Amino acid sequence: MAEVENSPTAVTTQIEHGRGVMESHILRLHPGQEIKSTLEQYVKENDLKAAFIITAVGSVTKATLRFAHDFKTGINEIRTFHRHLEILSLVGTLNDGSHLHISLSDKEGRFGNVIGGHVMGDLIVFTTCEVVIGNTVGLTVHRPFDKATGFPELAVVSCCDGGTKATQIKQS
Ligand SMILES: [Zn+2]
Repeated sequence: MAEVENSPTAVTTQIEHGRGVMESHILRLHPGQEIKSTLEQYVKENDLKAAFIITAVGSVTKATLRFAHDFKTGINEIRTFHRHLEILSLVGTLNDGSHLHISLSDKEGRFGNVIGGHVMGDLIVFTTCEVVIGNTVGLTVHRPFDKATGFPELAVVSCCDGGTKATQIKQS
């Protein structure tokens, strides 16, 4: 089914962007810690203004995820899983309200047992979580409300030339 037909946004050639040198931070989280809030707190305390997850592995005992929009019902289902799950991937940005997506596998490890979605929270560490955070020096990420999507969306400000960087790209 072509869900793109029901996309809430008109196609635009504009992109938000910024460029800068990256620094990296390596962290290990301990059993019982909540991953999303701990990373947000670390970013805040260390004044990282354009932070993102480069890689993350570990395991959790709980996870609350939001799934893709269902055009038939008009809702995004949110579900909480209470079980031991392996983190296969965790990606996203960490400033001004983080935006993270995750893939998780269960103990069976068989085809079809990987779940994933938008991280709402409740990512409680089981044994460990090893995370590498990148930060682009000289940029600040924020999330103004985008009336085209109905969500706060990423925008980038450079400390050097100021202002939000948004330009038109050529389409081939
Ligand atoms: Zn999302």
